[in-house]
Amino acid sequence: MSIRTSDLSLKERLDKELGDVFMRKSIGNAQDLLNKKRNDAFEELGNYEEWREMAAAVRHHVLENLDYYLNQFADKAGENGAHVIFTRTAKEATDAALEILTNKGVKKAVKSKSMVTEEVGLNEALEEAGIEVIETDLGEYILQTDDHDKPSHIVVPALHKNRDRIREVFAAKKGYTGDNVPENITRFVRGLIRKDFLEADVGITGCNFAVAESGTVTLVTNEGNGRFVTTAPKIQIVFMGMERIVPTFTELDMIFSMLVRSAVGAKLTSYLSFITGPKGGEDRDGPEELHIIIVDNGRSTVLESDFREVLRCIRCGTCMLECPAYRHISGHGYGTLYPGPLGLALVPILAGYEDYADVTKICSLCSACNDVCPVKIPLYESIYEHRRVIAEDKGLVHGLEPFIMGMYGKVIGSSTLYDFDTKMARFSKYLPDIGPLKEWTRERELPEITGKRFRDWFKKHET
Ligand code: SF4
Repeated sequence: MSIRTSDLSLKERLDKELGDVFMRKSIGNAQDLLNKKRNDAFEELGNYEEWREMAAAVRHHVLENLDYYLNQFADKAGENGAHVIFTRTAKEATDAALEILTNKGVKKAVKSKSMVTEEVGLNEALEEAGIEVIETDLGEYILQTDDHDKPSHIVVPALHKNRDRIREVFAAKKGYTGDNVPENITRFVRGLIRKDFLEADVGITGCNFAVAESGTVTLVTNEGNGRFVTTAPKIQIVFMGMERIVPTFTELDMIFSMLVRSAVGAKLTSYLSFITGPKGGEDRDGPEELHIIIVDNGRSTVLESDFREVLRCIRCGTCMLECPAYRHISGHGYGTLYPGPLGLALVPILAGYEDYADVTKICSLCSACNDVCPVKIPLYESIYEHRRVIAEDKGLVHGLEPFIMGMYGKVIGSSTLYDFDTKMARFSKYLPDIGPLKEWTRERELPEITGKRFRDWFKKHET
């Protein structure tokens, strides 16, 4: 499975992103703004830690009983008139959609934002089959218009672009002549895609959470596009990651409270859509056919592994907003569809250590992500364990790294060597600023070592 979003090497990606001052400023501003809103929203809720405990317990319970809840959901959704399809791989998932669309002679599809469709490469598969796919979430539409740029955040896909850049994209590609005011740009885009909603034969959505007790699929959106995608076209296809399920509406209520506050710092999102079966006899709107494609695509492997708790994720994106590494390199620096701490904890086990061993090096192991994850995923511990597996179990470390780390281990493990090296450290200012040291100091200032050591001070003051 490939969930790479870049062909560049890790070093090339980091060089590119660290050199993009404009992007770093956009990400920094967005992080500061969203983090403040999130903190305010949780302060108002009160008992933040208790809510996190409850949310974590619900997600843990679901993962422990996933087969039960998936079967219950599939049975209920079937009773409601939906067609439920279980798929094991990305190809099976896209083939299932293609079969539905080609049987119906579909030529145009509208889509609301969905990470799992990105994960399985749905747009590429449909476009290859001659089906036009129009992203209708504003952020995704910006990326699609900007030569299929890749998302840099799982909730705010165009987080790396500011209003000036977005204005430029629409001026160059769509003939926009207005200013950079978001409301004016949005009005312009709305005018463009309204006719697509009415012309499309099929609407494609993701699924924030499915409710097992009722067979309901739910969508959380800040824009009205989700409603349009699920009501105007005659056929609706829902893509759902197989872990995105809750037992009842009671748990859904609580998880939504955490999701929306964490993702955008609001009490409630603008639109919550609940889809229980296709259009009924008395309904004025809604699809005549509803297909729900449940995607495994590596999740069973994660479920069976020591990293099962990573599947608790509710895709709020908070860990990315808190991460200092993400702040400097954005989602694009990771080069994977799921960036930030979530990506580092999930991608190696979801998509394979061989191809994704390098990404875990991005983490500084500061553990800030652990403190904000609303479902208390042990992100820091998972990333650390991946590094151990990569180095010790898989032997996927290359070049001088094993030698340098071996030497470091020897120094740290020996009181004599450590004593000698810390004495020598005062001469570090005479070391040439070249090679690996140059890489290190390009973005950081090394503190000047004074020559006074703690162990000397301690010895002097020991009673
Ligand atoms: S790992 Fe936690 S903080 Fe990060 S996106 Fe998932 S739920 Fe949100």
